[in-house]
Amino acid sequence: MRIEIVEGDITVRPVDAIVNAANSSLLGGGGVDGAIHRAAGPELLEACRELRATKLPDGLAVGAAVATPGFLLPAKWVIHTVGPNRHAGQTNPALLASCFTESLRIADGLGARSVAFPAVSAGVYGWDARKVAQLGIEAVRAYAGRPLEGEKPMVELVEFVLFSEETAGIFRQALEESG
Ligand code: ADP
Repeated sequence: MRIEIVEGDITVRPVDAIVNAANSSLLGGGGVDGAIHRAAGPELLEACRELRATKLPDGLAVGAAVATPGFLLPAKWVIHTVGPNRHAGQTNPALLASCFTESLRIADGLGARSVAFPAVSAGVYGWDARKVAQLGIEAVRAYAGRPLEGEKPMVELVEFVLFSEETAGIFRQALEESG
C-alpha cells in the first residue's frame, strides 16, 4: 500500500473513494463536509438522508464509517466517517485511529483501489494536525500489514489530501518519521 501526501482540494481527487470528515447526523456541516456536498451535488444529501431513515436512525457513531455514491465527484464513492470532537471531550486516540481503519475496511469491501483522506478532526473538531497525521499514518500502515479476512487489501494507494501548505508539511514530516 502506497501512502502519498497531496496539498489541495479533496473533492477533485481522481481516486476511487474520498473520505468525508462528517458529523454524526450526516446531514451536512462546514469544512470539508460542506465542500464535498457542494461538489457532489444534492443527491449526496438525499443518500445521507436515506441512510438515516434506514440503517442509521441514530446517526453514525464516532469512529465508524459508511459509504454512499460520489454522484458528481470524480470519486465513485464517498466514505463518511465521524472523527472525535476534542471540544466535546472526545480525546481518545483510538477513536480517531478507528476512523481511518474503518474507512479502509469499507473501501476494501467496495473494491476501491485508491482512497483519499482529509485531516479528520483537525478542523472544527480541534485535534492537533500533528497528532492526526501520526495516528492516521500509523493506522493506515497497521491496516496494510493486517490482511482483511486472510486476503490482501484491495486498496493500493492512500492519499492524505491537505488543504493548506502548512498541514501538508506536517503530514510529510510525519510520513518521513514513520519510516
Ligand atoms: P472536523 O470537523 O473533522 O475537524 P473539518 O472539515 O472542520 O473537519 O476539517 C478537517 C480538515 O479538512 C481541516 O484541516 C480543513 O482545513 C480541511 N479541509 C477543508 N476543506 C477541505 C477540502 N476541500 N479538501 C481537503 N481538506 C479540506
